[in-house]
Amino acid sequence: MAAVHESVLDAIGGTPLIRLARLGAGLAAPVYAKAEFLNIGGSVKDRAALSMILAAERDGLLRPGGTIVEATSGNTGIGLAIVGRRRGYRVIAGVADKSAPEKADILRAYGAEVVLAPTGVAQEDPRHLFNVVQRLAEEIPGAWLANQYDNLANPDAHVRTTGPELWEQTGGRLTHFVAGVGTGGTITGTGGYLKEVSGGRVTVVGADPESSTYGGGDGSPWYVESIGHFLHPETVEDRWPQAYQQEVVDSFERVPDRESLLTARRLAREEGILAGPSSGTAVAAALRVARGLGPDDLVVVLLPDSGRSYLSKVHSDAWMRQWGFLEEEGAEGLRPLLEAAGPLVSVPAGATVAEAVRALGAAPYGVAPVVLERPDWPYGVSPAEVVGTADGAALAAGLADGSVKPDDRVGAVAGPPLPGAGVGCSPEEARERLRDGARAVLVLVDGKVAGVVAP
Ligand code: PMP
Repeated sequence: MAAVHESVLDAIGGTPLIRLARLGAGLAAPVYAKAEFLNIGGSVKDRAALSMILAAERDGLLRPGGTIVEATSGNTGIGLAIVGRRRGYRVIAGVADKSAPEKADILRAYGAEVVLAPTGVAQEDPRHLFNVVQRLAEEIPGAWLANQYDNLANPDAHVRTTGPELWEQTGGRLTHFVAGVGTGGTITGTGGYLKEVSGGRVTVVGADPESSTYGGGDGSPWYVESIGHFLHPETVEDRWPQAYQQEVVDSFERVPDRESLLTARRLAREEGILAGPSSGTAVAAALRVARGLGPDDLVVVLLPDSGRSYLSKVHSDAWMRQWGFLEEEGAEGLRPLLEAAGPLVSVPAGATVAEAVRALGAAPYGVAPVVLERPDWPYGVSPAEVVGTADGAALAAGLADGSVKPDDRVGAVAGPPLPGAGVGCSPEEARERLRDGARAVLVLVDGKVAGVVAP
């Protein structure tokens, strides 16, 4: 029989384990999913929110009439809103503007105030989400910044609850624990507990977006929300969260966006589990891990949140097509045009106009995206790192009338970025995106800029 609780706060945690029998078919080692989307607020972060608020009350940081402030992609904010409002506090959540819009709506529904901040700016920038919430916490009397990234009550929630639950639910048979790393609270607390209780027998695997720095990438952007560590090329001093203890993680599986997103969709279609994209990353990693294991092993993968918050993203065919993750067979897409256009020519924002004009000689249609500077672009050019468009004809005209100098930085004189269209979009759909006088679109394959075409 299911439990009876006197308050929602007592209903946090105690989530079931569900075997992934379909996705794990043919594998010797069973793979079980910890269904954290069944928490009262819909995610694993309910645990951390409750733990951080109780610790702040205990330590005298949060007093009656106080205000809770946090930077959150949504889930931590939801947990803080539920627990915080229930305990009588004002709650303000700073949310990155690239987060799914549904997340901000849910926060408001629980009575939190939402402040949006831009993504893709350097950590030093005053508009950066962390700086915005820091200022709010300093200016509002009685405010407490939950600071999930450096708050040790975050991993501690998992030492006290998630870890022991898993050990008990598997009867101590768990051998591999797989989870994504955002603040690192989940993997550090759960993984640390499981290692301790098993005498070091449990292997802890981090599921990381391919380009995230946690697993060894250069920090260039990816599409899966809430996990991984992004690094803007202009960030001077990179800081990792204190909630994340690297030593707990034995190895990383580095998962490209396509594999993560398609796995999240398979989870819904084949297992009946509607989960978010970070669950896709975690399950993709767990399946890779399980492939090398035997019948005495038992893999547990943690599913942080529900897919209901991402109906307009990973679970939408239109969204998947728009970013180049879905190409329907037989449909007329942009691939023939892309192949005819040849390889991508891009111009670094710091190049001079003279250098750009030379590069544009080889560019189809005489236009090229102007991009941030990253060495070698090992993960491809993300549209989030395209800062403008260099147009050969416009630059030549500027040079002729003297409004542009050969030594000017092209980033300073470039036009706006070209619109993007997924490779699976029809030429007509791509034409609909043309605006601001743009003649061409950036074609996206697996979320990366593959070329420029005039549809
Ligand atoms: N997935 C989702 C959907 C999340 O909201 C979070 C937390 N931001 C994570 C994964 C990562 O969890 P953690 O912060 O404990 O590393």
